Amino acid sequence: MVTDAAFEIPEIEISTKVQEFLSRPKKCLINGNWVEAASGKSFSIYNPANGSIIDMAAEGDKEDIDAAVKAARKVFDDPKHPWNTMTPSERGKLIWKIGDLILENLDELAELESLDNGKPVGVAKVADVPLSADLFHYMAGWATKIEGNTIPISVPYAAGAKFHAFTMREPVGVVGQIIPWNFPLLMAAWKLGPVLATGNCVVLKPAEQTPLTALRLGEIIQEAGVPDGVVNIVTGMGETAGAALAAHDDVDKVAFTGSTEVGKMIVQAAAGNLKKVTLELGGKSPNIIFKDTENLEQTIASAASAIFFNHGQCCCAGSRLYVEKDIFDEVVDGVSAAADQIKIGPGLAGDTDMGPLVSSEQLNRVTGFMNAGQEAGATCVTGGRRLGENGYFVTPTVYKDTNDDMSIVREEIFGPVVVADPFDDIEQIIDRGNDTTYGLAAGIWTRDISKAHRTAARLRAGTVWINCYNIFDSALPFGGYKQSGWGREMGHEVLDLYTETKAVCLGL
Ligand code: NAP
Ligand code: MG
Repeated sequence: MVTDAAFEIPEIEISTKVQEFLSRPKKCLINGNWVEAASGKSFSIYNPANGSIIDMAAEGDKEDIDAAVKAARKVFDDPKHPWNTMTPSERGKLIWKIGDLILENLDELAELESLDNGKPVGVAKVADVPLSADLFHYMAGWATKIEGNTIPISVPYAAGAKFHAFTMREPVGVVGQIIPWNFPLLMAAWKLGPVLATGNCVVLKPAEQTPLTALRLGEIIQEAGVPDGVVNIVTGMGETAGAALAAHDDVDKVAFTGSTEVGKMIVQAAAGNLKKVTLELGGKSPNIIFKDTENLEQTIASAASAIFFNHGQCCCAGSRLYVEKDIFDEVVDGVSAAADQIKIGPGLAGDTDMGPLVSSEQLNRVTGFMNAGQEAGATCVTGGRRLGENGYFVTPTVYKDTNDDMSIVREEIFGPVVVADPFDDIEQIIDRGNDTTYGLAAGIWTRDISKAHRTAARLRAGTVWINCYNIFDSALPFGGYKQSGWGREMGHEVLDLYTETKAVCLGL
């Protein structure tokens, strides 16, 4: 691996507000109290721009998970608890308030996210933080709209009898939620919004790499007035705290976002008490450009952004770029030129387009794939390098001359690395697009509306973007086919996954 050792990282001042937050100890939120881990242990939180330790957080484990689950259970099981006597309208107002408080603290949250995760602070300000607030605002409206049906029934063996039958949607109970590091605050919002809208109680475990904004969100949730014990947050490791949560016998549902590999472990851990499981997992999404795309220049810019946004650390990244033969060279050159224009630097520097990868593990993973691509004989059109020696920076990278068996084509890299390949047959490209164990997202670029719809219908993916990419909205369900997951987040569909249906039948 070529390393550009001359890459210099400037020192950046941290705002007083963030310094204040960093100076407070990072504990677990259990039953409304901020507490140390029972073991007394803590773990380091790193700045990926220079590898330095920025803070320490309580290393919660089985015992802390158990205490948090007990707190959540106590609230959930007490019919007189304020959380359970609250009207849906009051609950909606609380959730709305969380959204408002996120916006009030937008700059601080964006800076914290950038410091912890490495993403450009400007991106966190316009995407991560406002989208998180919007998710709470959107879910606030649903609190008053969780409805059942009245159902006319016939009951063939009860001739002449009359019944009044209806369904109710009730909260599923105590929910365990485990989230990744790529959009730390936003993933917490995606998870907590529906939990609160549907009246559940929760234990959330943030990723060990990026616990800071989830902890700040815990403070905001308290400030909004959510009763103690409804939202509990336990920081710690996946193999210990996460595994204990997934396996806990008193947890009714586990919602997980992360790798497909760990998703499979969650399913096994959940089998003990057959808790409900939802999974948002990895992807290797095809982005298919036809030669009749409306505006080639804009398509090229979008194809670059589809893979390089968030440093490629997006589950739905457009990581397999398929381009119709006639325009292949132009698109590959264009995407490579766009890659070369990307200004790489610490997330907190105002002019940074792309920050470091999140961790040294992720750096090793991504550079490992770069080496594998090289060894397998793919042509590196641009990038393929690490930058500097302390932070976790890599160059945005474009490969061509790949074949469909190479690991860089088959596996989720989760870094700014795209493989580009030409095609000339629409049937064949749909099959190749679907030739993956994943099914999270896909992109299609054409001005032929019939072709766009035909292709969209045949791609086995939870989201298909036509003439756009990476468009998210709180109202739009998101999730995966195949090994990209079970269930959907956002939209009203997510509410079904946080409620049980109770059928009530009354003999008249
Ligand atoms: P990961 O290693 O699977 O970790 C995700 C979460 O699971 C972290 O909180 C992690 O804890 C925890 N964990 C690890 N091992 C565990 C275990 N044995 N039991 C229970 N929990 C465990 O994934 P990642 O590398 O952080 O995140 C990247 C992955 O997330 C990618 O595959 C990406 O595609 C996927 N992702 C999917 C979506 C989606 O919506 N589909 C969204 C974002 C990301 P620690 O980190 O603390 O160890
Ligand atoms: Mg970090």
